[in-house]
Amino acid sequence: MASKTEKIGIIGSGLIGRSWAMLFAGGGYNVTIYDIVDAQITDALKDIREQLDRLQETNLLRGSLTADQQFKLIKGTTSLAETVKGASFVQECIPEKLEWKIKLYNELDKLIDDKVILSSSTSTFRPSLFSEQLKHRAQVLVCHPVNPPYYVPLVEIVPSPWTLPEIRVKAREIMTEIGQAPVSLTREIDGFALNRIQYAILNEAWRLIADGVLDVKDMDKVMSEGLGMRYAFLGALETTHLNSEGIARYNEVYKETMWSVSKTMGPVPKFEGEVAKKIAEQMNAITPLDKLQERRAWRDEALTKLSTLKKELDDKWKNEHC
Ligand code: NAD
Repeated sequence: MASKTEKIGIIGSGLIGRSWAMLFAGGGYNVTIYDIVDAQITDALKDIREQLDRLQETNLLRGSLTADQQFKLIKGTTSLAETVKGASFVQECIPEKLEWKIKLYNELDKLIDDKVILSSSTSTFRPSLFSEQLKHRAQVLVCHPVNPPYYVPLVEIVPSPWTLPEIRVKAREIMTEIGQAPVSLTREIDGFALNRIQYAILNEAWRLIADGVLDVKDMDKVMSEGLGMRYAFLGALETTHLNSEGIARYNEVYKETMWSVSKTMGPVPKFEGEVAKKIAEQMNAITPLDKLQERRAWRDEALTKLSTLKKELDDKWKNEHC
């Protein structure tokens, strides 16, 4: 993947902004990264340099350019106007505060041309919430990454009711090109897809613990040693397809069971009160709060190894069957 002339603007140089900068540079794009806090930009560039070097040493660097070549594609700026000038795609990565996002998009509306794609990293806000009043609202959408985006490639592409179809298509093309795995929602919906599914799992985990069926440790094992093992490689639907003679047969055989079990699931819990206290006590005993940093580093290492294994196995399947 050679370097390109197209420019990407990144707004916000925190955890997610840094990851996007590395992903786009890995794809050969010129990247300009901006932050309202000057020191953040300096820190971000230092951190990105270190991360790229580490990735190169461990053979995990994306794209065909060296760490040095990729780093040279990234520059920092303290000017929002400079960030968006001549950019074909802008990825916004500022904190999850709606009023901050609205203010920023209003500023951007005055600075941008009619072509640039304005993409938000927001985890929770439907794009209509911060784009409705904009002159350029048809160019705004959400590209929601999953942390850490360098190793977890899913990106949820979420349009507002007024996002142009070609903007959605182009965003998906760019995400695929830089090695991410985009999914395109046809319309905006609270929680997008990933969090709706995550919340469904958390809701049932809560109910099983609240009802005294499982403790926290065993509840998490159901995912990490059971469902999660499959779901790291296959979706929930293909899992059922393989567990029977196809998904149609699975539905025929299990539809009554799924229906009757699902009807026994209780109301949506509020995640507060005595049960919340009990869950927190048990979880803190499993992973003490002063060990969170080490555990996160362990998680990232595990995800790195898993992403390498997944790529290897996916390539093998494609070579033999596609
Ligand atoms: P962060 O707090 O690490 O970084 C935010 C950065 O934005 C900071 O450097 C801050 O100085 C800067 N900033 C604040 N206001 C700004 C402005 N007006 N213009 C330019 N820069 C500004 O936050 P993060 O974790 O990187 O999250 C960024 C976005 O990504 C959020 O919308 C979040 O919901 C989303 N997201 C986060 C994660 C995650 O796990 N952290 C995952 C997916 C999506």
